[in-house]
Amino acid sequence: MYRKGLMELLQDRPTSLQELAQLLAVHPKEVEDDLQHLIKSLRHRPYRAVITPATCKKCGFVFHKDKLHKPGKCPACRGTWISQPLIRIEERR
Ligand SMILES: [Zn+2]
Repeated sequence: MYRKGLMELLQDRPTSLQELAQLLAVHPKEVEDDLQHLIKSLRHRPYRAVITPATCKKCGFVFHKDKLHKPGKCPACRGTWISQPLIRIEERR
């Protein structure tokens, strides 16, 4: 069961895992687990998750969308200046 309020927080508002953890006062790993559940459960609901993948700000490498947490290092240039992935939920139309 995913955390109540998670869906509301993300609706039409791109939010990072870090920010969500702060808002809910829980560990980012917990939020990530809840989020994975929530995203899976959306398949049966009139909503969809829109994920803006993390990107390396040094070389522009785009990480996989399945990664919800901020990657530690860029596999292309080894840089650590990386943007956080953003998660948003919107109504399917
Ligand atoms: Zn890079």
